[in-house]
Amino acid sequence: MASPELLRRLLDILHYSGASSIARPLLRGTGIIFCLHHVLPGGGRELGFAPNAKLECEPEFLEGLINLARRRGYETVSLAEAIARLEQGSTNPFAVFTLDDGYRDNKKYAQPVFERLNCPYTIFVAPRIAEGSSELWWRLLELVVAKVDRFTDAIGDKTFDLPCATDEQKWATWERLLPALEQQEQFEQRRIIRNLCAKHGIDPDAYCRSVAMSWDELREINKDPLCTIGAHTLNHHAVAKLSATDAKRELEASRLIIGRELGEDILFNAYPYGDEPNAKPRDFTLAGEAGYKASLTTRKGVCYKGHGAHLQALPRIMISGRYQELRYVDTLISGLPTLLLNRLRKVNVA
Ligand SMILES: [Zn+2]
Repeated sequence: MASPELLRRLLDILHYSGASSIARPLLRGTGIIFCLHHVLPGGGRELGFAPNAKLECEPEFLEGLINLARRRGYETVSLAEAIARLEQGSTNPFAVFTLDDGYRDNKKYAQPVFERLNCPYTIFVAPRIAEGSSELWWRLLELVVAKVDRFTDAIGDKTFDLPCATDEQKWATWERLLPALEQQEQFEQRRIIRNLCAKHGIDPDAYCRSVAMSWDELREINKDPLCTIGAHTLNHHAVAKLSATDAKRELEASRLIIGRELGEDILFNAYPYGDEPNAKPRDFTLAGEAGYKASLTTRKGVCYKGHGAHLQALPRIMISGRYQELRYVDTLISGLPTLLLNRLRKVNVA
């Protein structure tokens, strides 16, 4: 996986050398599916210790993205329409906007932009997040590190004793703790973060309720004809790191519970985290068996005709708060950088 700095450099080289412009007509594919998380004023622009700022962008940037896609000749369509085009082998280019996790800022800041520009969008939600009982562990870990001057705790079988007084130290501590927590078994990971929160006076459920849309709010936003709600597993677990039985349950239960809460059939799924280590071919099969018409990964890529045969493993273009310049996105969607990142495979589903 390319580091953010390497990726930024690659994008600069491909942009300024003109390589992406030359490649665009050949490699742009038939569609793009954008992946966003938080949309809010100042989003992604935080200074100091803010490791999750990459999950945010500003409403103005979202507006710029929609306009960029349209200028480049993509029709902004619903996910259902995009999937129909992939199934039919249509070359009529589409752009789809998706937001993961179901944050309240989506309703407050993103929906008005989508409405004003008449642009369809899909929000992927996990029942436990909507109920306010899920551990948004990457945010909770950030809160713990932000709060302490020294981190002295165990994560799994590793004990850490790290200085945490300055922003620089907090970043260094974060770089050590994040992989340690990512490597944990999924249910154990949540127990560890709950224990850390208890020790440091943070209430995980209150945090979840403060940032995520409730079922009532989801029912409200789902009245918007531009809105589609999709599933994002039950607990926001990395399905590839679960047993087949648990992974199937995560995928299936999510579809059934969201369907019951919203009173409609849920057709689409996005795998939490969604990159190669977290969503694998076994899970693509399980998602089909769980009843989804299509599923989205976060494997980097644009959609090609060949993806029509791999609807449970569609790539997305991740929007990072740290790349809020349209030229980065414009270069990414030329198809050249993602082809290089996928080692020259247009369809990377292995
Ligand atoms: Zn997510």
